[in-house]
Amino acid sequence: MNYTGKSKIITVNRNRCIGCGYCLSMEHNFWVISPYDGKITTKEFINTKEQTLKVTVPIEVLDIVTDSCGNCPSHVFKLL
Ligand code: SF4
Repeated sequence: MNYTGKSKIITVNRNRCIGCGYCLSMEHNFWVISPYDGKITTKEFINTKEQTLKVTVPIEVLDIVTDSCGNCPSHVFKLL
């Protein structure tokens, strides 16, 4: 596949996350559940205590990560 275009920034409102894991069922290499508070984060922000993250999604995984955000019942993700 030939990837073109730009990476995308997704705002993650972690305070809304209920830890259900629905977003992980589609894309389990990008999103992870924090071992510290049981809320969604990424490997890059694994140690974060912040409740609002600005996550840069590489173009190579943008489609599947965007789809995974649509599975969230708590409206954690804001795609700009
Ligand atoms: S689907 Fe939403 S509420 Fe469930 S773990 Fe993912 S971000 Fe959290």
